[in-house]
Amino acid sequence: MHLQEKHPKATLSDFIKNWSEENGFLACGIARVHQPDVETERLKAWLKEGKHADMEYMERNLEKRCNPKKLVKNARSVISLLYNYYPVKQLPKDQHYKISKYAYGRDYHKVIKKKLKPLLQKLREESGTQHSRAFVDSAPVMDKVWAMKSGLGWIGKNTMLLNRKFGSFFFVGEVITDLELEYDDAEHKDLCGSCSRCMRACPTGALSKAYVIDARKCISYHTIENKSSDLPDALRSKFENWIFGCDICQDVCPWNRIAKPHQEKDFTPSETLVKMNKADWENLKQDDFEMLFEGSAVKRAKYSGLKRNIHFVQKH
Ligand code: SF4
Repeated sequence: MHLQEKHPKATLSDFIKNWSEENGFLACGIARVHQPDVETERLKAWLKEGKHADMEYMERNLEKRCNPKKLVKNARSVISLLYNYYPVKQLPKDQHYKISKYAYGRDYHKVIKKKLKPLLQKLREESGTQHSRAFVDSAPVMDKVWAMKSGLGWIGKNTMLLNRKFGSFFFVGEVITDLELEYDDAEHKDLCGSCSRCMRACPTGALSKAYVIDARKCISYHTIENKSSDLPDALRSKFENWIFGCDICQDVCPWNRIAKPHQEKDFTPSETLVKMNKADWENLKQDDFEMLFEGSAVKRAKYSGLKRNIHFVQKH
């Protein structure tokens, strides 16, 4: 007999949460699928103001992004799972070029997707579901919104999902499924309070409005997503040596003082990466880049993008 037939919601929901814990996820929450009206309107306003820079795919996929049923037939539930990437030791910062902590090791898309596969398999075996898909920043899904709606935290003034027990250095993965589950529908209270550290710390002013990121000024956007051969002159001298991503608005967040190191060997940086100094980055050849970042998220910037970023910050 399938679990869903035995105890339709509670048993399956408990099974999923136990599975998540046993498989090293920080936390798991489940939200009922509905049209997130407030967030949809916010997203539309953000796009209208052009704050997505040239990420046109955000406009193209708006309908899918706002409606999980467009991604999974008869979707009823979104299961959100948090996976820690806070490193035991950070790469050297002073007098070094910097890459975001999430990119120290193997590409998180690959690592987490692989981890979620057995859950999909189990759900199929135990419940007979025909329609369940896993996503890790790999499709138009409002991942932070669904995680928030399942009680896993709040979206802070830096626009990251924050959890009072873990901070914000974690990835959010989702399983969208046609299964009816037990829901953690309590949205978390916003605990940013009067703090505005992230907004003050952002050197480019990308967070000049609380809870709204302006990608046109965001270091992370420019060093990863911006595909043009030049970066904006107005931002010259403001990148503080970040050459892939940026952690400033998370590093200054008081909730990250409680972040604990992950235990994921796939996220451990290679010895070569740990030892890279400025000259090594500046002299990096394409072949070295391919080897150093084999299976890494840094490949998203491509060799040309990384060299462009180094050149951009090098002059200052
Ligand atoms: S730094 Fe302060 S305002 Fe910004 S996300 Fe953290 S708690 Fe919220």
